[in-house]
Amino acid sequence: MKQIIVAGTGYVGLATGVSFATIGFKVTCVDIDESKINLLQKGICPIYEPGLQEALLESIMQERIEFTTNINQAYRKADVIFIAVGTPELPDGTANLTYLKEVAKDIAINASKDLVVVIKSTVPVGTNEVVKQILKEFAHPQLKIDVVSNPEFLREGSALHDIFHGDRIVIGADHPQSASYVSELYKSFNLPIFVTSVRSAEMIKYASNAFLATKISFINEISSICEAVGADVEQVAHGMGLDRRIGSQFLNAGIGFGGSCFPKDTSALVKSSALEGLELKLLKSVIDINDYQQLKLYELAKLYFGSLKDKQIAILGASFKPNTNDIRHAPSIALIKEFLKAGAIITVYDPIALPEVNREFGDSVKYSNDLYEAISNQDAALIVTEWNEIVQAELSQFETRMKQPLIFDGRNCFNLEEVQNTNIQYYSIGRKPVN
Ligand code: NAD
Repeated sequence: MKQIIVAGTGYVGLATGVSFATIGFKVTCVDIDESKINLLQKGICPIYEPGLQEALLESIMQERIEFTTNINQAYRKADVIFIAVGTPELPDGTANLTYLKEVAKDIAINASKDLVVVIKSTVPVGTNEVVKQILKEFAHPQLKIDVVSNPEFLREGSALHDIFHGDRIVIGADHPQSASYVSELYKSFNLPIFVTSVRSAEMIKYASNAFLATKISFINEISSICEAVGADVEQVAHGMGLDRRIGSQFLNAGIGFGGSCFPKDTSALVKSSALEGLELKLLKSVIDINDYQQLKLYELAKLYFGSLKDKQIAILGASFKPNTNDIRHAPSIALIKEFLKAGAIITVYDPIALPEVNREFGDSVKYSNDLYEAISNQDAALIVTEWNEIVQAELSQFETRMKQPLIFDGRNCFNLEEVQNTNIQYYSIGRKPVN
């Protein structure tokens, strides 16, 4: 049986490793983060991802997955290595390839047999060739090591579901035998496989994320016009989405996109295009609209209160979307920073992500893992993430517990008729204010 190694046990690496173990492969996941590996060796999932904890324990029990920081030993026995390390944004907006290059060098130095290196990390076009160069420079010249691009399309919050039910698997390879080798690994997933050139595969990932981000900024821009002219963006989006050429997904107006992918990938695409002498005007606007949108609830609150000094504000939801504890580039972060600067007193509620918020803000904000406690005695409640707990909240609790019932809803969680029957003052995105 082929020995699969996965480098990096973050959202992508861990979900990938566990998925291959689930379908019967022997998988070794490696990471340089000892605390993560210690938890994983004990069967504890270090991230929140629905179903992952259970699948992890099952794979450990079946002795199909193991975790180690002993990178050298792991790479020595590898037939195929999936690289899923982070490629975060550098201050200038380009992708940081340091971790990826480190892994490439570690693989080259330790490889003891022919192998295929599969790059799952999102990387700018041309990066696979850089990895190939590193492998050529440091590996034993007699070894055949090929590099295949296999960008990942999973969404946090439904990672396992997406791996098993994704729309396509993209494999970018320069040699047909390497493409077949990787396709064979994915055979039991029974998903459409699209084989293409390495450079096209790298670009498919960026272009896909850029397109989805564009849809979000588009509907957000339309939401501002809706507010100005008295249309309702929910109805507008629904009516647009009925057209199959448009489709209804990613047409939810709100306070913009966040997370570890869209912000960094849109910015990396703009930057890498600039290096080619191209200005991506559309994508630059997508980013600008999103920056504006992320702070929209702050602007609304400022308009409402005048001064925000000493105002008690509940931030409801901190993760960048429901069902994840990831707060990277989340609108909550931008909002909390702005409110703190204006002298407001912040209480943050989130069912899962409070430890992550605490690492970012420490004692400068208060925390509550009880929604109704979080809104008690507040001047305003801001809905930032559409967690089920928030969508299903009883509006009467806002009426009775808050100093004054005032909601700024960045995710359009409640329908306007429902709110109309309360005494809550309610501001949402792209819809008329209520009460
Ligand atoms: P992450 O930050 O959650 O995890 C990366 C892991 O790599 C960390 O655990 C880190 O310790 C480890 N690592 C760093 N250097 C290492 C090394 N030299 N050897 C072994 N491990 C090392 O990242 P993520 O969110 O899983 O994203 C990984 C890649 O996948 C990124 O390029 C990202 O853009 C892409 N991606 C992410 C998502 C997502 O939803 N998170 C979706 C699709 C694609």
